[in-house]
Amino acid sequence: MNLVPFGYRPTTAASTRAVRRGDLARRAGWTAAAAFLGLGLLAGCAQSEPASPSPDTATTSPAPEPTPDPAPAQPEFDRSAQSIDDPASLWVISNKSRPLDPVDWAPSDLVATSGVENEFDQPLREPAARAVEALIGAAADAGHSVWIISAYRDYGTQVALYDGYVDRDGAAAADRYSARPGHSEHQTGLVVDLDDHGDCYLDGCFGDTPAGKWLAENAADYGFVIRYPEGKEQVTGFMPEPWHFRFVGTELALEMRDQGVTTLEEFFGLPAAPDYP
Ligand SMILES: [Zn+2]
Repeated sequence: MNLVPFGYRPTTAASTRAVRRGDLARRAGWTAAAAFLGLGLLAGCAQSEPASPSPDTATTSPAPEPTPDPAPAQPEFDRSAQSIDDPASLWVISNKSRPLDPVDWAPSDLVATSGVENEFDQPLREPAARAVEALIGAAADAGHSVWIISAYRDYGTQVALYDGYVDRDGAAAADRYSARPGHSEHQTGLVVDLDDHGDCYLDGCFGDTPAGKWLAENAADYGFVIRYPEGKEQVTGFMPEPWHFRFVGTELALEMRDQGVTTLEEFFGLPAAPDYP
């Protein structure tokens, strides 16, 4: 029976993660990936004028068809439907310039996940828990063995993690791979780190695995986005993390995928947040 309280990290596991994070820190020397400015502009879709019916004096013209109403415009996605400031909102955006307010905010609807492997038994907010269970189930149906390796971390846990990274690697390096307390998305209870039991645990190569690719393609159908995508370090402030999935709900996740916008900052028109103020 596991009576380990939420947020508690066994020393051995923490050490393992620290080593993995050490790998990440070394990878921090990566050349920033070429920024793919996904500015896919729709070709101008000016409607051509309908051809005027040619006058036909030889025959009796049928009564002109009534001009059909123009097709109703696709309703604009309502970016203000949910708050991006309220830490309890499914759309809350936290980054280096947007700490959670209050910084030690904690969710009130944390639940355990069920039917999926969850390495440290960390909980999630209820909607995110149900969604990730469905996502992992669908991944299994597609032949991928995916498990949760991190979920909710409270403020105090993030304080301990971040301070440890700073002691080991220095603040500049730590800030590239670990959020400062109050800025971690894991504190929202809406984030899971996923893995496939392979060799890319918390490693950038996870995005190249079959499971990582499947998740990238299908996560939006379950309401998740890859929060720190490739080529967007200057926008999100964090190195690519193909294992870190943020629940925002299907409406927003699918809209972002449809529009080809990969970061919450760009979708909501927020300034890039490469550094702490
Ligand atoms: Zn994460």
